[in-house]
Amino acid sequence: MEFASFYTRFNALLIFLTLFSPCKFIRIPIETVSLNYIKATSMDFGGPSNFHESTSTASVDFGGFIFNIPSAVFRPKSSRDIAVLLSFLSASSSAKVSVAARGAGHSIHGQAQAPDGIVIEMDTLPSLIEIHKLMDGEEGFPYADVSGGALWIELLEESLKLGLAPRSWTDYLYLSIGGTLSNAGISGQTFKYGPQITNVLQLEVVTGKGEIVTCSPTQSAELFYAVLGGLGQFGIITRARILLQDAPQQVKWIRLFYDDFQTFIKDQELLILMPEKVDYVEGFIVLNENSLHSSSMAFPNQLEFISELRKDSSKVYYCIEFAVHSHKIEEIKIEQVISTNSVTLKQVKPWDMNTSVVLPEASSTTEVDDGRVIYVVGLLQSANPSRCTKTCLTDLLERHRHVAEMAASDRIGAKQYLGHHPSPDQWRKHFGSKWDRFADRKSRFDPLALLAPGQGIFVRSSAST
Ligand SMILES: Cc1cc2nc3c(=O)[nH]c(=O)nc-3n(C[C@H](O)[C@H](O)[C@H](O)COP(=O)(O)OP(=O)(O)OC[C@H]3O[C@@H](n4cnc5c(N)ncnc54)[C@H](O)[C@@H]3O)c2cc1C
Repeated sequence: MEFASFYTRFNALLIFLTLFSPCKFIRIPIETVSLNYIKATSMDFGGPSNFHESTSTASVDFGGFIFNIPSAVFRPKSSRDIAVLLSFLSASSSAKVSVAARGAGHSIHGQAQAPDGIVIEMDTLPSLIEIHKLMDGEEGFPYADVSGGALWIELLEESLKLGLAPRSWTDYLYLSIGGTLSNAGISGQTFKYGPQITNVLQLEVVTGKGEIVTCSPTQSAELFYAVLGGLGQFGIITRARILLQDAPQQVKWIRLFYDDFQTFIKDQELLILMPEKVDYVEGFIVLNENSLHSSSMAFPNQLEFISELRKDSSKVYYCIEFAVHSHKIEEIKIEQVISTNSVTLKQVKPWDMNTSVVLPEASSTTEVDDGRVIYVVGLLQSANPSRCTKTCLTDLLERHRHVAEMAASDRIGAKQYLGHHPSPDQWRKHFGSKWDRFADRKSRFDPLALLAPGQGIFVRSSAST
């Protein structure tokens, strides 16, 4: 399957539903857990100071409407601390405690929470960002070895000091390396370099059985691919080797506005077919004037169509954002970039089907290797806690659920990115033909389903069962 081509549009759709609200909404009561039992054992978890009972941060996330109180927070000082904890739990038949790694806590639906379990705060691992720049004449790519709890912004800042930058980003960089690699990590560079999970050379992972494994496409490859996009189900990423490239000296950033959907789509597809010329492509729909003001980048007030939007609420505009990098300080001539005569129809294959990510399946009428375009459609909505009551929030969530269900219907066939499915059966449907592989990987790397209970995919079992 190719990533870019002109035909087949919305039959291949990844949907990205997000709702932000700091309202308190669901609170699950604390029940006693065998944490004291764990602490009272003679196991060495890296010292007693690694366990903390203060759980306020660990019980919330960016979404702000799911609250699950863990019994304890674990602040590891090394991968070994995590390994000792997980091997202890997986060997104990009486402790039915679950464990969630928490990166930057930017999940929306409690995915990094552990009801009555243990939350591991990944940012307490010693910060490691080691940049490997190529020496003169050395072949290959520069890369960075980074701890799993480090943030992408920290990696960017360190690599820029040596004139380098990660190849594939997220739009927002205050997310942890382990957190985005557990999903996919997508942005305007995905069409060119693939998601962040296809820009990783090696991982260090602590499996649900407490084994510390260094894995890559050639070493313990099954674990490597399982963990990438694996929703935290197979192991905890304690270290990652991330591909870098030369940072540009200059960037030209262009916004194009359209009032015609077909032209907007056609131009977007034209741009993604030019990865050797274009470095970033995203697009969005301007539904009303507010959607311009809520954008992170200000728009000039004199845009002609703003008055049209004010006059006619049914009017919709579309915007493409794209960027062109230059490695020299020189004027970037956009006309040359988008001259269609010079387009080489070079197609890239950025999604690695060995990873745990699921993509929309090819419909029965299209060949698998048909060069489909995969659209990532984000619905980003926020609720103001001073105005949005519990009822208003419930309505918003209900609308999101409805959109997600429609998009995932057989007619459209989208897959939810950062999905939240209410039952293991719905997860099975989400994974479709990839479910057996996902479940098999779970039984190999986390057989007791200790890890990432907040995703709600598997039910924790005990060693005796
Ligand atoms: C404002 C905002 C902007 C965003 N922008 C983008 C974007 O541009 N592109 C994009 O792709 N996504 C985006 N996201 C989504 C984001 O990538 C995911 O929510 C991601 O999980 C957040 O990373 P985190 O470190 O906060 O993870 P957390 O919320 O802490 O954890 C998410 C999941 O990963 C697991 N996990 C965390 N760390 C590890 C680890 N080290 N090893 C194994 N499992 C782990 C957790 O247990 C949990 O199940 C955005 C989210 C927000 C709130």
